[in-house]
Amino acid sequence: MKTLAKLHAEKGIWMTDAPHPECGHNDVVIKISKTAICGTDMHIYQWDDWAQSTIPVPMTVGHEFVGVITEIGPEVSGFKIGDRVSGEGHITCGHCRNCRAGRRHLCRKTLGVGVNRTGAFAEYLVIPASNAFKIPNNISDDMAAIFDPFGNAAHTALSFDLIGEDVLITGAGPIGAMAAAIAKHVGARNVVITDVNDFRLDLAKKMGATRTVNVSRESLKDVMNEIDMHEGFDVGLEMSGNDTAFRSMLECMNHGGKIAMLGIPGKDTLIDWNLVIFKGLIIKGIYGREMYETWYKMVAMLQSGLDISPIITHRFNVNDFQQGFDTMGSGKSGKVILDWN
Ligand code: NAD
Ligand code: ZN
Repeated sequence: MKTLAKLHAEKGIWMTDAPHPECGHNDVVIKISKTAICGTDMHIYQWDDWAQSTIPVPMTVGHEFVGVITEIGPEVSGFKIGDRVSGEGHITCGHCRNCRAGRRHLCRKTLGVGVNRTGAFAEYLVIPASNAFKIPNNISDDMAAIFDPFGNAAHTALSFDLIGEDVLITGAGPIGAMAAAIAKHVGARNVVITDVNDFRLDLAKKMGATRTVNVSRESLKDVMNEIDMHEGFDVGLEMSGNDTAFRSMLECMNHGGKIAMLGIPGKDTLIDWNLVIFKGLIIKGIYGREMYETWYKMVAMLQSGLDISPIITHRFNVNDFQQGFDTMGSGKSGKVILDWN
């Protein structure tokens, strides 16, 4: 079968042939219809330090997908051939304390599809059946293909009560823009989003941000004065991984503010801890999606009128994958879909 794989320890991704996956007792095999390119795939494509120390070569990559079940292991119940599914890319151990308590997103032994094991950029993918998630008929393939990053946005945005709150999102990448849409959908008042990229800020505006701030030109504090927000933000969603953005978030939070942190900061990031202590801030780290509360919430939000469709800005046939990766790397895109049909 056709796959997109990291074949060489250098920048790039290559189309290659791989054997059809074998379906284990508790697995499902999924015929992939659409995949999306993640920021993580871009790190793997660029072959940066993180990728070099994490990704085995050769390996099929990718973890954002939708497809149809074509094979079911003998021990699997609850799925049938023909079911349209996306899937949770974090494979958890199932027997640690957190897994057994239903807190699978906190498993200490998580393995990532397309990061630590064979990925979804392939005609067929095998995953444990417990990681598959059935997609209701009224949700499109395009939406289902981005449930993984939409889930990062949902897990982060729904970490704290947003009703009537003033929310600051730092980073208007695909996940930040989707978080803006969610915050507005669930009833936040001001949803202010920052970035240094106008294309992405425009997209975030389209998705529901009430004010965009290009911090290379405007100061967040001036914007707060302009919109009469003198006390500070109630909730912060850090989605840039940028140290300066995080430091300015700490400065702009109200006392008692809550921060959910998805962006991955530099290892040696310095912050003013006095802001955390004397403002009584709560900071929560976010990894992946809650299994499977986040997945149910995503479906429910789409079915109750949340529209995140503008985030998909480009669609390519998988044979044009290079264009897809170039587009994703250009900074002038939201999500990029690759069609495997
Ligand atoms: P992305 O890289 O596409 O978006 C980050 C955005 O931050 C970019 O648009 C960039 O221009 C912007 N930015 C840069 N400097 C800034 C500054 N000073 N102020 C404000 N914005 C600034 O990433 P994404 O795919 O949207 O993901 C968001 C973040 O979440 C990334 O850091 C990613 O690594 C991380 N992530 C974490 C998890 C997890 O499980 N914790 C999962 C997925 C992604
Ligand atoms: Zn576990």
